Amino acid sequence: MAKDPMLKFVRVGQDYPAKRPAEERSADFGEIARKYEAVKAEEQASRCSQCGVPYCSNHCPLHNHIPDWLRLTAEGRLREAYELSNATSTMPEICGRICPQDRLCEGNCVIEFSGHGAVTIGSVEKFITDTAWAEGWVEPLRPLPDRGQSVAVIGAGPAGLTAAELLRVRGYEVHVYDRHDRAGGLLTYGIPGFKLEKPVVMRRVERLAEGGVQFHLGFEIGRDATMAELRERHDAVLIATGVYKPRAIKAPGVGSNGVVDALDYLIASNRKSFGDAVPAFEDGSLNAEGKNVVVIGGGDTAMDCVRTAIRQGAKSVKCLYRRDRANMPGSQREVANAEEEGVEFVWLSAPEGFEADGEGGRVSAVRATRMRLGQPDASGRRAPEPDPGSEFRLDADLVVKALGFDPEDLPKAFDADELSVTRWGTLRVDHKTMQTSLDGVFAAGDIVRGASLVVWAIRDGRDVAERMHAFLKAKADAAREKVAA
Ligand SMILES: Cc1cc2nc3c(=O)[nH]c(=O)nc-3n(C[C@H](O)[C@H](O)[C@H](O)COP(=O)(O)OP(=O)(O)OC[C@H]3O[C@@H](n4cnc5c(N)ncnc54)[C@H](O)[C@@H]3O)c2cc1C
Ligand code: SF4
Repeated sequence: MAKDPMLKFVRVGQDYPAKRPAEERSADFGEIARKYEAVKAEEQASRCSQCGVPYCSNHCPLHNHIPDWLRLTAEGRLREAYELSNATSTMPEICGRICPQDRLCEGNCVIEFSGHGAVTIGSVEKFITDTAWAEGWVEPLRPLPDRGQSVAVIGAGPAGLTAAELLRVRGYEVHVYDRHDRAGGLLTYGIPGFKLEKPVVMRRVERLAEGGVQFHLGFEIGRDATMAELRERHDAVLIATGVYKPRAIKAPGVGSNGVVDALDYLIASNRKSFGDAVPAFEDGSLNAEGKNVVVIGGGDTAMDCVRTAIRQGAKSVKCLYRRDRANMPGSQREVANAEEEGVEFVWLSAPEGFEADGEGGRVSAVRATRMRLGQPDASGRRAPEPDPGSEFRLDADLVVKALGFDPEDLPKAFDADELSVTRWGTLRVDHKTMQTSLDGVFAAGDIVRGASLVVWAIRDGRDVAERMHAFLKAKADAAREKVAA
């Protein structure tokens, strides 16, 4: 009988793909991890203990068939591993790169709990589908015959693109509208290249365009068409617009020159990486080169900003966060990467004001105060409160505000008062149908959940495509019955 290639976790240690040295990677926007060689991917996959109840899969929002494709990888059956991994995810190589695996699959892997170190699931996932692209195994879209119905998708982020792919394959005419000039949403313009290189996103977009998904870029709903017009043109509409209103800081001097929003800063940097002309970067407003940079916030966006500033050649980069390391929302893995690259974290500190030479003048410093953690709040996290008399000052020529995002006012922007929203401004949907308060208008991704994760956006895109298909089929059946009657 052939020897079982699995359960090697006692003999084979956990081994992530090596990171490039900090000095080398800080000088460019390429991804920081090197690639697995095939033998290494097979070896690491073979550590899986093939659990009867796979917690990795249960904690994956997509319920990816992780133990099964790990086994196929360990057996060298990579093409089958790819097909299985692709069956539940529209972009496994993207999730492999940017999912917070330490909080999802790997964080719940049983061999992590037994002290052996989790299976390196994300790195193997990335390896499988990168190999599939390199080998030409990633098939073009093969749409079913035309159903004579069309769908509008507003927003070309992971939620919109996933729904677009799955609806197109079912034979619908799919139109994706996005106000940006490139598709991908935050995959393209939010997340920096050192986490996710842009050709990885663009090849997914190109595959959809080649498969007949029609992209209308530079097209903003609310400016170039109203919701009513879109509903007139299409049989169903999906709103997958994400959340983009930056949370504000209320402090004196916040309007000074050089105090900027995180997404403006990241978009400018990502555009430069595409080779675009970016006047606000070229004139120095959104370029950290030679500057003392202070980033305010402790989430993934703040981590991306500090590490971008390092790569732009900042003189110093500090991250100001009001809680401590253990209570920050950003991934610990990213904090470690940032520290290796030279970022200084100023924990338990919050801004009180911004010094500048006159109203609207150039920022020169952040005035801050130390914080201490009080009693746990409603969410169970200990609420920070100012520590009196602990004020201090940090030199700053560029301050990046990265405090998170709220939804824009969509009923107003879309000229659709009937569109119902929650008290947080996210779209209210029927949880069974994923339909909004407007008939035939669905919603998915961050605009429903609030700022979340790429993998949840993909999950929502997958679910909403099913619900929209059911709706459109019922609509077509009803129309046929009417004609027959
Ligand atoms: C800086 C940053 C880093 C992140 N890093 C990670 C990470 O490492 N891992 C992770 O899992 N998640 C990360 N996230 C979160 C993740 O990117 C989002 O949860 C995910 O992209 C949401 O997908 P979505 O499709 O709902 O929306 P989005 O990706 O935001 O896409 C929405 C699209 O809608 C378009 N749009 C909006 N309004 C209109 C309109 N009126 N008309 C036309 N088009 C419109 C936008 O231009 C955009 O392209 C990060 C987020 C940020 C901001
Ligand atoms: S939890 Fe870990 S060991 Fe168990 S099936 Fe998943 S990857 Fe394998």
